[in-house]
Amino acid sequence: MRISFYGVRGSLPSPGPATAHFGGNTSCVLLELADGTLLIFDAGTGLRPLGQHMAAIDTPLHLLLTHSHWDHIQGFPFFTPIYQPEREIHICRSLPDGDTEFAGVLEQMNGHNHPLGHSTLPAAVGYMEDPPAFFERYDFGFRRKTLNHPGGGYAYRIDEGGAAFAYVTDNELDPPEKPATSFDEWVDFCHGADVLIHDAQYLEADMPMKHGWGHSLVSQVRELAHEAEVGCLIIYHHDPERTDLEVAKILDESRDWFARQGSRTQVVCAWEGLVIDVAHGRGARTRIDINALRPSGLVVPEGTLRT
Ligand SMILES: [Zn+2]
Ligand SMILES: [Zn+2]
Repeated sequence: MRISFYGVRGSLPSPGPATAHFGGNTSCVLLELADGTLLIFDAGTGLRPLGQHMAAIDTPLHLLLTHSHWDHIQGFPFFTPIYQPEREIHICRSLPDGDTEFAGVLEQMNGHNHPLGHSTLPAAVGYMEDPPAFFERYDFGFRRKTLNHPGGGYAYRIDEGGAAFAYVTDNELDPPEKPATSFDEWVDFCHGADVLIHDAQYLEADMPMKHGWGHSLVSQVRELAHEAEVGCLIIYHHDPERTDLEVAKILDESRDWFARQGSRTQVVCAWEGLVIDVAHGRGARTRIDINALRPSGLVVPEGTLRT
């Protein structure tokens, strides 16, 4: 499987010179499976540049939404494939089966929030009635888990040919109320994944103000990745206020933390343009040349970061 990042920012797009290296587009990740199936996770503003690539091929697309907060659906009206006649786009809704989507990815195209109505789109776009049943016909494992996030939503896990990918964003590992999914259940859900993408929007300094906002601390996500023995943790959904230098610092501190645990888990802070190939074959564990993944050209004051 190949994982490509098109949007890594949380809450709000944050373009500008202070965020240019990790990127300012909101959540969007492409997962390409060995059989050619294309799964797109979230439709944040990163979906727009992804759409430019997807327009050149005619493969059916599968959009798996975690939930319907703006930073996860806002790119959809600007996704070129929805304007391609008969283009197949299957959407995995973000609310529990049978629930009605209040203001979802399609419903935002209503003439008020966007000039067009979704019923006029030339593509063959529609919600999956029953996502687990829909994916039964495919040659990979599909699992989802309820997020600890205001309004709810889903995390996803895809297993294919011995490789495993988990996408868990907008998830508060230690919420103030009883969690929909406990920490131990997350450890089980993520266990042994080659790549775990997890929201780690906050630092201890953001608390207690942001407690209950539905996002995790970097330190909590490291604990999860360590306990779940994942191959590589991808720190994701960066706070819009976090500068490149601050994100790079989180990466350095996290590498130190895993080294102190004697852990084999690798860690990367996601950036737009990051591509990770996960080897197939049971037992194969992704090993990534982390130094090669450093954002090129990042300007770092002398002595601030390890090189
Ligand atoms: Zn978000
Ligand atoms: Zn959210």
